[in-house]
Order: sequence, then C-alpha cells, then structure tokens
Amino acid sequence: ARVVDAAGTEDERVVEAALRPRRLAEFPGQPRVRDQLGLVLEAARRRGTPPDHVLLSGPPGLGKTTLAMIVAAELERPIRVTSGPAIQHAGDLAAVLSSLDEGEVLFLDEIHRMSRSAEEMLYLAMEDFRVDVVVGKGPGATAIPLELPPFTVVGATTRAGLLPAPLRDRFGFTGHLDFYETTDLVTILHRSAGLLGVDADEPGITEVAGRSRGTPRIANRLLRRVRDWAQVHGEGHVDHHAAREALALFDVDDAGLDRLDRAVLQALCRRFGGGPVGLSTLAVSVGEEADTVETVAEPYLVREGYMSRTPRGRAATARAWQHLGLTPPVDAPQ
Ligand code: ATP
Repeated sequence: ARVVDAAGTEDERVVEAALRPRRLAEFPGQPRVRDQLGLVLEAARRRGTPPDHVLLSGPPGLGKTTLAMIVAAELERPIRVTSGPAIQHAGDLAAVLSSLDEGEVLFLDEIHRMSRSAEEMLYLAMEDFRVDVVVGKGPGATAIPLELPPFTVVGATTRAGLLPAPLRDRFGFTGHLDFYETTDLVTILHRSAGLLGVDADEPGITEVAGRSRGTPRIANRLLRRVRDWAQVHGEGHVDHHAAREALALFDVDDAGLDRLDRAVLQALCRRFGGGPVGLSTLAVSVGEEADTVETVAEPYLVREGYMSRTPRGRAATARAWQHLGLTPPVDAPQ
C-alpha cells in the first residue's frame, strides 16, 4: 500500500472515524459545497421537512462520508450506512428502505456500483417514497406497493459520470468536492494533531500539508507517520525536521510524488525523450501493470501538470523535466 494512496484501508477506519469533523461549522475547506449544503439543511430544518436528496461526488479521501455524517448530525436524525456493492439485488435495497424511520438519512456510498434493478427501485423510492415489493414468482408474481416515510438519501460517488441520468436527476442537491488548498490542509492537520494528542508546530504541519496531494486522508496518514518518526527519533515533537526526515523515509517528495510517480516521470523523460509513448509501453518500462499506472499514478500527475495524455500517448510536460532536474529536448511539449 502506498502512503500517498487516497483510498482508505480497513485498519484506518477507527482512526479516521475519530478524526471526522462532526458539524458543518467544524468542516474546513470546500467553502462552496459547505455553504450550499448549509443553506439546504437549514431551510429544511426550518420547514420541518426532510431536505432534498444529496449527491456528493469527487475523488476518494476528500470528505464525502464525513459530510454524509454531518448531514445527519445537522438534521439531528439517525443515519443508516450502506454501499452500492452491498446492494446487489433489489430485495437488499427493499429491506433497507422498508426499515427506515421518518426523516432518517440513508447514506449510499459508491452509489454508482449498485445493480441496475436496485437503481430502478431507488428512483421510485426517492421520488414517491414508495417501493413495489414483488411477491411470488413467474406469471403469478404480484407487486405490492409499500408506502415509505419521507427520508433523505445521501449518495456518494467517485464517478458521477457513471450514474444513469434518471438516478442523478433524483438528487435535488449535488456537491462536487475538489482537492483542498494547502491552507485548508494546515487547518485540518492542526485539528487532527490536537485530537491525536500530537505536539506539532506550524512548520512541521505546513511541510506535511504541502505533500498531501490536496487530500485530507493522505494528510492525516502522513501526520501519523511523522508522529511515529518523531517518537522514535526524538521527543515526539512534529516539526519541520521530523516531517522532512519521515517523509523522505516513506519516499514522498516535496511535491507529494512517491516512488511510482517518479519512476513514471523518469521513464517518460529519460527513456522516451518526453514521449508521447503508449500507456502499456510506459507501464512495462516501470515494471507495473498498465492499469496501475493509469489509475494509481497518472491521475495526480495529469492533474498537477507533470504529464499529459495526447492522442499518440503519454507525454512529459515542462514541469516534469523541471521536477526531475533534467533539461528537456528543444522540441519537448510544454
Ligand atoms: P472515500 O471516497 O474513500 O469513501 P471520502 O471522500 O468519503 O473517501 P472521508 O472518509 O469522509 O472521505 O474522509 C477521509 C478522512 O479524511 C477522514 O478521516 C476524515 O476525517 C478526513 N477528512 C476529510 N475531509 C475533511 C475535512 N474537511 N476536515 C477534516 N478532516 C477531513
């Protein structure tokens, strides 16, 4: 597992839960989504009715689950948590829906991975607060409509584009989460350090924030590794020196790139003169599967402008050459 992987691991769950902000007012970053969601929830609270269904989209580790929990906390309603992969049959969804209490929040993580039949049941339930329970099989089967109390769906997805339009349209509010500014990550890290009982100063926190790829989950994980280093090599104080040493040990450079990211850029620049080169050729030259390069390294490298995708393959940008301390050939793409 990479220390800069934006996806969470099973054994991080407990610590992650402890670090989640509980209310909107404690949630740093994402000012647009926070303000819009705040308005939607406050208006619903004043009307005394459940708000529109909420869809949260964006890359992993940016706070979708955290915001779903916050929706329930702000509405002072319980939350039921499930996910697309857990709902493979319409019956799985019917069981969940028919047991919801009035005003309850249903959090559907990875909603784009639900089965088609469950999706269809969800449209109806979201719009009309009703499910059709099918009793019996074959030609004798009958659908018995079951009224549901009003509830709120909060859906989360890393792939909003994969949601069928009819399902997307049932969400009255959609918030797209973007990568965080370093200043927001600094705020998050100060808060996390406080909760974890870590003694951390501003230069130490800023160093961690700058290497966290705009992602709170990565920031919190790097903070824990720097804390480990500081405990073993010093008095446990997270400062600039501890941050630099620990992150060097974990192969995370100043820009937040790790060994695989740098290997991809090195291969692109040194072996292929900056490209363009096909994905599979590039992957072979770094000893990885094409899929790993495409899904693990490439998104961040493209987003940060180290690499571009062209119709003829992957190409290094001026920033890549600069990052590696190399001089680009005169005809290299910018
Ligand atoms: P995934 O797509 O993998 O489910 P996610 O977008 O749901 O990820 P969360 O699980 O909400 O992300 O957040 C991951 C970790 O980052 C949690 O520990 C959470 O506390 C922290 N985090 C995310 N956003 C914030 C924030 N704005 N402030 C403080 N901590 C945050």
